Amino acid sequence: MLKYKMLIGGEWVEALSGKTYRAINPATGEEAAEIPLAGSEDIDRAVEAAQQAFPIWSKKSQAERSDLIWKMAGLLKEHEEEINRIEVLDHGTPIKLARIQRHISSMNLEYAAQASRTLMGSALPYSAHTMSCIQREPIGVCALIIPWNSPLMMVTSKMGACLATGNTCIIKPSAIDSMVTLKLAEILSDLDIPAGVINVVTGPGGTVGESLAAHPGVRFISFTGSSETGKRIMSVASGTLKRTQMELGGKNPFIVLEDAEIKKAAQRGVASSCNNTGMVCASPGRYYVHQRIYDEFIQEYLQGMKKIKVGDPWDEQTDMGPVVSAEHRERVEGYIRSGVEEGAKLLLGGKRPDQPPLDKGYFVMPAVFSEVRPHMKIYCEEIFGPVACFTRFSSDDEVIDMANDNIYGLCASVWTQDTARGMRLVERINAGVVAINSDRFVSSETPWGGFKESGFGKENSVFGLEEYTQLKLLVMDNN
Ligand code: NAD
Repeated sequence: MLKYKMLIGGEWVEALSGKTYRAINPATGEEAAEIPLAGSEDIDRAVEAAQQAFPIWSKKSQAERSDLIWKMAGLLKEHEEEINRIEVLDHGTPIKLARIQRHISSMNLEYAAQASRTLMGSALPYSAHTMSCIQREPIGVCALIIPWNSPLMMVTSKMGACLATGNTCIIKPSAIDSMVTLKLAEILSDLDIPAGVINVVTGPGGTVGESLAAHPGVRFISFTGSSETGKRIMSVASGTLKRTQMELGGKNPFIVLEDAEIKKAAQRGVASSCNNTGMVCASPGRYYVHQRIYDEFIQEYLQGMKKIKVGDPWDEQTDMGPVVSAEHRERVEGYIRSGVEEGAKLLLGGKRPDQPPLDKGYFVMPAVFSEVRPHMKIYCEEIFGPVACFTRFSSDDEVIDMANDNIYGLCASVWTQDTARGMRLVERINAGVVAINSDRFVSSETPWGGFKESGFGKENSVFGLEEYTQLKLLVMDNN
């Protein structure tokens, strides 16, 4: 079994209590690694280390910082196989998806290294005798709290922006899959980064995460996770008025109009619902299909879904691996049961595979429900698994009302060959990211982030970099 330590102040350390927990391989249910279980005393030393490193790191020139972050991206490429191995072991990510995620993670770092060199201040000529200008400063010690669903991409996106803008960080991965973040930190220790600039602490959110969120030495929290946890973090962080950025849940409408290219929309829907076993915040949560094409679309969708290969994540042919844990599988299965009990029609899947080798891990076959109605739990709540929920509609106004009638507002897509009509519809959707004929929402260059209970603040892009800075006004009397 692998054994990990945490990174605090440039040292690889056990938890001060000596406690550990076990990471489980979701594809087999077997123990994969032993990980330190941090306590609040470990958070104190991590914050102290990050505070000490802050004046050193923030005073480096932008070129020096960008150069180091660019090299991080290169190290990720060099160590690709090692990283992918851990990703498959820890998360059950199919190997072909792990390669894509590693590639995106390097791009996240490269983007932060490049774009931060162009972040500029500006002069404000507000009177003849006064010169004033705006300067962007780093905030200080940042807590980067990561969910379990795509840890490498999440951590590189946050860490790249945080470090490029001159902050130091304490990264807290999810206790469910901490290994890839610890591996990343180990790989990066080949670089000449001052001790304490990057710290990684491991353990459950309720204790370790909360100590971090409450710590007065932490000045900014970038959080990705559930809306419920986001609210808890905001309340804990309010004690010291920390700034926060919240990337939370979603229940994203996927709207298919009667003139859509049915085949293309169905293919993209299937791929999106099965990507990372449906454990993606941008996954389609509610399919709305115009009643005129409803049956035809569902038939096309089912055909596509039947081609999805659920299997061993090491198999190059596998499209979909297990869900991340036994607990999460029970949660997803609970939703499937509630869909059936509340009267939705289960057209496909939803069962555990019972043939070896898939009978050991946390697999669940992708499920498709039709006739899903607004009063049902599967219609309203985020499932975060491979479960597609179909509802029919008959007019543009009706579908927009239904799409907006949810606590979340992360992203949405409209599928139509009439782009002007598509544009009119997406403009009326209350979500942070909207698309016509596309479900490819996320890239290093584009801002990602939701409205309503999907959170606030942006990840990626120049706007994502700006989150990690504070504006200072400098005024000079030149009379
Ligand atoms: P989660 O909220 O359970 O945990 C996220 C992180 O927060 C973990 O590191 C966890 O240990 C920590 N945490 C938990 N309780 C805490 C507390 N009280 N104080 C501080 N930290 C705490 O979420 P999850 O189950 O890991 O991830 C799934 C959720 O993340 C889904 O709701 C999904 O939509 C959301 N998500 C959103 C985005 C986005 O960009 N909007 C991206 C990915 C995932």
